[in-house]
Amino acid sequence: MAEHVFIILKPDALERGLVGVLLSRLENKGYLIERLEMTRLDPFRLRKLYAHIADKPFYSDVESYMTSGPVVTGALSGFRVGKGVRQIVGATDPLRAAPGSIRGDYGRAWEDGNMRNLIHASDSPENAEREISLWFGA
Ligand code: ADP
Repeated sequence: MAEHVFIILKPDALERGLVGVLLSRLENKGYLIERLEMTRLDPFRLRKLYAHIADKPFYSDVESYMTSGPVVTGALSGFRVGKGVRQIVGATDPLRAAPGSIRGDYGRAWEDGNMRNLIHASDSPENAEREISLWFGA
């Protein structure tokens, strides 16, 4: 069975006109876009996605960031796609993400005291299936 990954192009990716660039990076590696949808995130579903950080002091900023505008959600497939996409995405903090990664090349953070890192990608095959069914119901 093909492995999947769930991605969200966050509101800053859309505001900055980077949707095409970011999807190209993932497609160029050879991953297949299976689902893609422009939508808005609601705080309830976001909290399920981010249960592991919901009690952090910065969560209220994450919630207002992620619900501040439209996002693009998607599911990609490919051989070891989860590990591969996380590598292309880079470390959480854009100031620490390696050059060449999406967050390292395009992410901007802390200018206004907040982290803006453009893209979410599930961190394990189990979470990918959970997140894909949370969003796409399949
Ligand atoms: P990742 O997105 O790299 O898997 P996490 O799951 O730890 O990282 O965090 C989820 C999201 O929460 C991050 O992508 C980022 O948008 C936000 N976040 C994480 N840590 C912080 C922080 N210290 N300050 C502000 N926002 C953060």
